[in-house]
Amino acid sequence: MPEKIKVIVNEDRCYLCGGCAGVCPTLAIEVHSSGWEFLQDKCISCRICISACPVGALSAEPLEVSE
Ligand code: SF4
Ligand code: SF4
Repeated sequence: MPEKIKVIVNEDRCYLCGGCAGVCPTLAIEVHSSGWEFLQDKCISCRICISACPVGALSAEPLEVSE
């Protein structure tokens, strides 16, 4: 089973272009004028958003699941 991840934004780099939200297949990222938002419940850990960011503002860390 692939590792579940949490996507983290570096707010110093992100300029809210919306590119990552545009490529996310499950709409797990929302980009508003007020900021970048990650919706963990929708994320399938595909990492497409991380590759898509033109300024390398996104990274992943393992999601700690408490079950
Ligand atoms: S890892 Fe995939 S599903 Fe999760 S936010 Fe990025 S593009 Fe969307
Ligand atoms: S693609 Fe990168 S710079 Fe653009 S909104 Fe997403 S994280 Fe920010």
